[in-house]
Amino acid sequence: MSDQLHFFFFPMMAHGHMIPTLDMAKLVASRGVKATIITTPLNESVFSKAIQRNKNLGIEIDIRLIKFQTVEHGLPEECERLDLIPSDDLLLNFFKATAMMQEPLEQLIQESRPNCLVSDIFFPWTTDTAAKFNIPRLAIHGTSFFALCVGESIRHHKPFKNVSSDSETFVLPNLPHQIKLTRSQLSPFDRIEEEKNIPLMVKAVRESGLKGNGVIFNSFYELEQDYVELYTKVLGRKAWAIGPVSLCNRDIEDKTERGKKSSIDKHDCMKWLDSKKSSSVVYICFGSIANFTILQMRELAMGIEASGQEFIWVVRTAKEEENNEDWLPIGFEERTKEKGLIIRGWAPQVLILDHESVGAFVTHCGWNSTLEGISAGVSMVAWPVFAEQFFNEKLVTEVLRTGVGVGSVKWQKTYSEGVKKEAIAKAIKRVMVGEEAEGFRSRAKAYKEMARKAVEIEGSSYSNLTTLLEDISTFSSISD
Ligand code: UDP
Repeated sequence: MSDQLHFFFFPMMAHGHMIPTLDMAKLVASRGVKATIITTPLNESVFSKAIQRNKNLGIEIDIRLIKFQTVEHGLPEECERLDLIPSDDLLLNFFKATAMMQEPLEQLIQESRPNCLVSDIFFPWTTDTAAKFNIPRLAIHGTSFFALCVGESIRHHKPFKNVSSDSETFVLPNLPHQIKLTRSQLSPFDRIEEEKNIPLMVKAVRESGLKGNGVIFNSFYELEQDYVELYTKVLGRKAWAIGPVSLCNRDIEDKTERGKKSSIDKHDCMKWLDSKKSSSVVYICFGSIANFTILQMRELAMGIEASGQEFIWVVRTAKEEENNEDWLPIGFEERTKEKGLIIRGWAPQVLILDHESVGAFVTHCGWNSTLEGISAGVSMVAWPVFAEQFFNEKLVTEVLRTGVGVGSVKWQKTYSEGVKKEAIAKAIKRVMVGEEAEGFRSRAKAYKEMARKAVEIEGSSYSNLTTLLEDISTFSSISD
């Protein structure tokens, strides 16, 4: 075996998983490790341009494709990514199709003999695959230490059993801060009382992060140190925090082309932002999967307008309502044309957030967006929708205190109720104007500095990546 380490990266096919995994591959490759990304043919384009740009800089990342059995599993032909699943009924079919990737993945491992398999927790079977070849399997959850500790507290103590309604709050036991949630903010699986009623696939995914050789986190120690300690020392899990990984994108091209081609020309976008005052613009975006109904979109539009703030709003409506512009209140664009920019489709998010004119981020609290906002030093309005986003909201509003919640109270795949325009306007104003806003912003700026230091040479994340590479080297030399 050659002395150069070789890592296989195998992310779930969803932008929120593939984008940070590509950044991880870049980080590892820039330390002289060979990095290979495994994905399906339709998703090659998520990586190919960035891979080419890195190649020009002398950073080699390889990509290998595995056919994804869509039609064989009753899925539409092009359904190779989570956001392309036409209805929730087909989620299980999608997961079954992912399990069919085991054999081709093993063939690739057999051919290339990597030293390590970094794979998504949504591929629990990769633990067995790695064991077959006697290589470590490192898991990626795509979330924070905080969210995992909250999840653990809920599952272990089931505090939601002690409340009499879905809207009554309960305190999460055994956490360093007093964190409260309601039952309506939990995913349907987190609300299940009897262990035996939890679907096997959900159990397998939960255990997936525990069974391998450790977890790589896109986070940094200084951000959530109490929860890093809880996760590693009290719960006894092996973990390396190596983020924020998005900070490896230093030039304008890398910040613009993340995951998809941007729907706006980067120069037009920068020109618009350049014309605005420092910290005067609110950036509004809800990630790659969350959908809003027309009614909620209209309410949001009215809330943005009522806040009186300048804004960039990235718009995606529920699938069945695509191409329908009824969500815009009459005359909205005309009235706000000086103040606002609507991007229909995909925004160059990191480029926008990093611009000094942006002062706040209205976010669904997907972990990547949350961390990108933290890395840019902007205040936040938290509007969680589903997944573990309600947990990330608490990190921002209760632990870091860099933002406020908009008042989202219900976990729902398509957001249909019920945040009113008054609440939206109020939350935006709270993070943009006045003394309280100054407090949010100064704390946000402090975390931005910490984030940047963490990834610099000798910073905590930089050192953790060094340790990770040493750990894999040691494992490989022992098992040779
Ligand atoms: N993103 C982007 N432009 C968009 C929407 C999303 O670049 O218009 C990126 C964003 O920067 C982040 C990822 O897509 O890196 C979304 O991940 P996140 O965990 O925030 O949310 P998810 O899409 O998984 O719900």
